[in-house]
Amino acid sequence: MSPACQSWANRLDSVIMVSGLLLDIDGVLVTSWRPIPGAVQAVEQLAQRAIPRMFLTNTTSKSRTQLAEVLTELGFAVAPDEIFSAARLTAEYLRAQHPGATVWVLNRGPVVEDMSGVEVVTDARVTPDVVVLGGAGPEFSHDALSRVFELMVAGVPVIAMHRSMTWSTTEGIRIDTGVYLEGLEKAAGRTIRAIGKPSPWGFRAAVDMLGLDPTSVVMVGDDLHSDVLGAQASALVGVLVRTGKFRTETLAALESDEFAPVPDHIIDSIVDLPALMDRLMTSA
Ligand SMILES: [Mg+2]
Repeated sequence: MSPACQSWANRLDSVIMVSGLLLDIDGVLVTSWRPIPGAVQAVEQLAQRAIPRMFLTNTTSKSRTQLAEVLTELGFAVAPDEIFSAARLTAEYLRAQHPGATVWVLNRGPVVEDMSGVEVVTDARVTPDVVVLGGAGPEFSHDALSRVFELMVAGVPVIAMHRSMTWSTTEGIRIDTGVYLEGLEKAAGRTIRAIGKPSPWGFRAAVDMLGLDPTSVVMVGDDLHSDVLGAQASALVGVLVRTGKFRTETLAALESDEFAPVPDHIIDSIVDLPALMDRLMTSA
């Protein structure tokens, strides 16, 4: 961190009392569903401090129940209610903005479980009130995407659980919803609202769930833009970890631009988070 940034961060520490925590899952607690060294103990240490917390994830391959089960098996004591997934955020958005709407969700799989209170339709031939794009997968076929486009042009609102471009799998890197979303937007001349990180809507909903002011909530993530700078743009305190998808070159490119925002804090891994939280929670 440059001296100027350091002094700004110190100044932030001195005026903001941190009292809540949002944690990304993939790349912060686990990589390829294996715990990051020391992460289990760090989460335990944070739990002992009784800091109000939520887990904020764009993962759409597992439901919240499945995520909690996998994390618990790995040694993290996490309850489904503590997980704010992009699907849950999307369901909250639909209930608030499109109450009673019929929704065609382009995403097979378990995340639809997290959309309770939303009337999900499976027959794309019947015109729905809203279309939701989940995480990309085999269901993003030419026929299905052409139908999304057709509905979009006809004026049906299209929203997306997130606009991530890629994700890593054990078989290699895969393209994600953002790739299709940009093409659809360009072809239709309309925008698609994305709900998960880094959307301000997602951060706000998670902070509201904690019942805290955004300036007193720390967001910890491995994605510089989506997790950290996105959170900071929504008035949260950003913490970047050097694990998961963290790349030194991405951070260096940002730091070489004197006008670009930089993370409030950078730590090697979640192992360093309990000590940082101790400092942030006592320095107001
Ligand atoms: Mg991540």
